[in-house]
Amino acid sequence: MIHFDSISKIYPDNTVGLSEVTFSIDPQEFVSIVGPSGAGKSTLLRMLLAEDRPTDGSIFIGSTNILDLDKYELNDLRRNIGVVFQDFRLLPHKTVYENVSFAMEAAGKSDQEIEEDVPYALELVGIDHKYASFPNQLSGGEQQRTAIARAIVNRPEIIVADEPTGNLDPVNTFDIVDILRKVNELDTTVILATHNTGVIDNLAKRVVTIEGGRLVKDSKTDRINSL
Ligand code: ADP
Repeated sequence: MIHFDSISKIYPDNTVGLSEVTFSIDPQEFVSIVGPSGAGKSTLLRMLLAEDRPTDGSIFIGSTNILDLDKYELNDLRRNIGVVFQDFRLLPHKTVYENVSFAMEAAGKSDQEIEEDVPYALELVGIDHKYASFPNQLSGGEQQRTAIARAIVNRPEIIVADEPTGNLDPVNTFDIVDILRKVNELDTTVILATHNTGVIDNLAKRVVTIEGGRLVKDSKTDRINSL
């Protein structure tokens, strides 16, 4: 269970990033965070990844307030969250296989685990046939598949995807959302942030809407919060 408890973020220049945002995400839930550009979606995800601290409030993962963790504990936390970005962020001089295996090496996994799990992850996202290609030999959709394989290969409990389809055409957008749905069905919590509600139109999963830093709608509770 992830719980955002009255999270506010005021940036040093006094811009309001988030204002008293409270909601919970159940284990194995798929939640889309939607709202226009500047609404606070990335700010919220950065707080969850502990890349930045809220000005106020608490963030619990299970019973742990992540704001209380030291840097070693934060590293453990981050290992339990796979992240997918709009711009893929693959290592350009490594192949598809190496981009994914590198994430396992960094997590201290054995050669045997790597040899078993990398092909599985590549197959799951449908990029196994391009295992020897470099990122510049791949389409955007193929690069994002690789990035998802990298995010899931260490079997994190949570996947965070920040505008993962922002650079993709409609067909690839559909496929990437479908892959995230599949990942969710394997019992991973998925948090998908997007400004484009068309991306999640046919998903039939929970949608949390943020505007101007406030949570204004949650399809789970249909709570309208117009404070
Ligand atoms: P979204 O991801 O929904 O597009 P963001 O979380 O990036 O929105 O931004 C929310 C608000 O916080 C915006 O007004 C944005 O300009 C502001 N903001 C984001 N990062 C910073 C920062 N480092 N310094 C100042 N303001 C910021």
